[in-house]
Amino acid sequence: MALQIVTIPCLDDNYAFLLHDPDSKQTALVDAPEAAPIKTILESKGWTLTHILITHHHWDHVDGLEVLRNAYGARVYGAKSDAHRLPPLDVELSEGDSISIGDNQGTVIDVSGHSINHLAFHFPKSFALFTADSLMALGCGRVFEGTMEQMWDSLSKLAALPPMTIVYSGHEYTAANAAFAYTIEPENAALKDRILQVIEAKELGIATVPSILQDELATNPFLRAASPEIRARLDMKTASDAQVFGEIRRRKDGFSFTGMPDLTEDPCNCAYE
Ligand code: ZN
Ligand code: FE
Repeated sequence: MALQIVTIPCLDDNYAFLLHDPDSKQTALVDAPEAAPIKTILESKGWTLTHILITHHHWDHVDGLEVLRNAYGARVYGAKSDAHRLPPLDVELSEGDSISIGDNQGTVIDVSGHSINHLAFHFPKSFALFTADSLMALGCGRVFEGTMEQMWDSLSKLAALPPMTIVYSGHEYTAANAAFAYTIEPENAALKDRILQVIEAKELGIATVPSILQDELATNPFLRAASPEIRARLDMKTASDAQVFGEIRRRKDGFSFTGMPDLTEDPCNCAYE
């Protein structure tokens, strides 16, 4: 049976995810921003935590780990090459390794860039991809430790997965990401439609995570370095995809979010025609 997946808002704008296999009753957690909201869900479902998968070393992804490990005795999985700065690991992972939650096999993907040795976890039978601060809804994590080329390579691996893959990313940053995306590709009709959905979700207080990889491919500027509109706008028609990606990432670093674009007043907005 496919995994049952529960999204848990944590801290101000983080997400953790529970992955439950109904046959074996095994339950995995992806990232532990804080323990309390995760314990509450586990108790309400009657699930016992068996695995904790860590995507990367930043505090907002590991701070709740020790409390949960002690409470449930879960085994902790994380990047072998990052073990020196992660909480103590029971299982050390490298690219291509697999993780079993009951019969559900997940594959480890190295998505270095935001941090070196950042991991993503792909569970193909459940069409589920856990990306934390690599690929995000309409965005990607800031490139703190790796190079722009490395981050582009990492995102390209994720972009090559089946388009119906569901992307469970680590933060609710989608409104600011959408406003920025519009500055990069304002003629993209699919992006405009998605921005309208993000505005509606924001008004209703609904999470915009997870998202569908197909929608990211159509609208996320960080996956769209090949777009002729973007290349023309950035005056980078002959640059490599990684260079275009790097320029988009640098522009996002300097972008300040002041509100959503008002698409209803845009005379070119095809969504209303
Ligand atoms: Zn991070
Ligand atoms: Fe984070």
